[in-house]
Amino acid sequence: MPDIDAIVQEIATEMRHRTDRGEVARYIPELARVDPHQFGLAVILEDGRVAAGGDADQPFSIQSISKVFTLTLALGMAGDDLWTRVGREPSGNPFNSIVQLERERGRPRNPFINAGAIAVTDLIVSGHQPRESLGEILRFMQFLAGDTSIAIDKAVAASERRTGFRNTALANYMKSFGIIDNPVDFTLGVYFHHCAIAMSCRQLAMAGRFLAHSGRNPSTGYSVVSAERARRINALMLTCGHYDGSGDFAYRVGLPGKSGVGGGILAVAPGHASIAVWAPGLDGAGNSHLGRLALERLTKAMGWSIFGV
Ligand code: GLU
Repeated sequence: MPDIDAIVQEIATEMRHRTDRGEVARYIPELARVDPHQFGLAVILEDGRVAAGGDADQPFSIQSISKVFTLTLALGMAGDDLWTRVGREPSGNPFNSIVQLERERGRPRNPFINAGAIAVTDLIVSGHQPRESLGEILRFMQFLAGDTSIAIDKAVAASERRTGFRNTALANYMKSFGIIDNPVDFTLGVYFHHCAIAMSCRQLAMAGRFLAHSGRNPSTGYSVVSAERARRINALMLTCGHYDGSGDFAYRVGLPGKSGVGGGILAVAPGHASIAVWAPGLDGAGNSHLGRLALERLTKAMGWSIFGV
C-alpha cells in the first residue's frame, strides 16, 4: 500500500501554499469571518490508524455534513417510510433552491438539499421537544466520534437563525403541502443548530467510519446501521452529496462524499478509509474548492476511487 502518511503530508503542504482558495460562505455572517487560509485532512484506515495533516484538529462548522447523520437517525426512526416525504434523486439545482419544490408539490428531491434536510429534521423532531431532538443528534455525533467534547457553536446557529430567510421560506412552503408536521420554528431551530455543530477533521472522520465499513465501526465492532443501509446512504452521498456539483465530484474524486458550506467534506472509501477534509473557501456550487482538490489527489494516489484506479 502507498505510504498514506507521506501522501497526506504532501497534500497538506500543497494546499497550504495554493493561492486559489475559493470564497468563504458569506450568507451566514459568522462563517464569513473564518480565515480562508486554513486546511485540514484526516484519514482513518480500517485498522484504526490515522493519517492527519494541516489543521486536522481545528474544529469548524460542519453545516450540511450533519445531514448525513440526521438522515441516519431518521432512517433508524422511520425506516423506508421516510421516502414518502423526501426523494432520492439528484436535484441538479443549488442547495437552497425553491423552484423545484413548487413543481414537485413540496416534496424535496433528496435528503441533502436544504429542503430535504429540513424535512428529515422535522421527522426527528416529531413527538419531542426541540431541545430533546437536538440533544439526541449531538449525542449521536459524540458517540460516533467517541468524543463528548463535541459541541454546537451557538454564535453560528444564532447567525443563521437571524439570516435564514430562504430556509424559512422553504420550510413554510413545505408546510403548506403537509410535508412538515411540527411548528416551522421548532424544526428550523433544530436544523440551524445541528448545522452549527463544530468538529475537527479527525472527529468527523471518526464519526463517518461506519459508512466505510458496512455499517460498523471496525475498531469497536459496534454496528451503527445494517450493511445495506450504509451502502444506500453512501449511494445518496455519491449522487446528491455535493448539490449540483455532485456529478463533477464523482468524476474527479470517485467517492461518496458530503460537503458543507463551512468548507468541510466527509468522504468514504468503502472498505478502506473514512476521510474528512476542511478548507473554508468554496467553489461556485458551494463546495470546498481545495477540499475537493485534496480528495482528488488522495484517491488518485491511493487508488481508492470506487470506479477503478
Ligand atoms: N446551514 C446551511 C444552510 O441551510 C447548510 C448549507 C450547506 O452546508 O450546504 O444554508
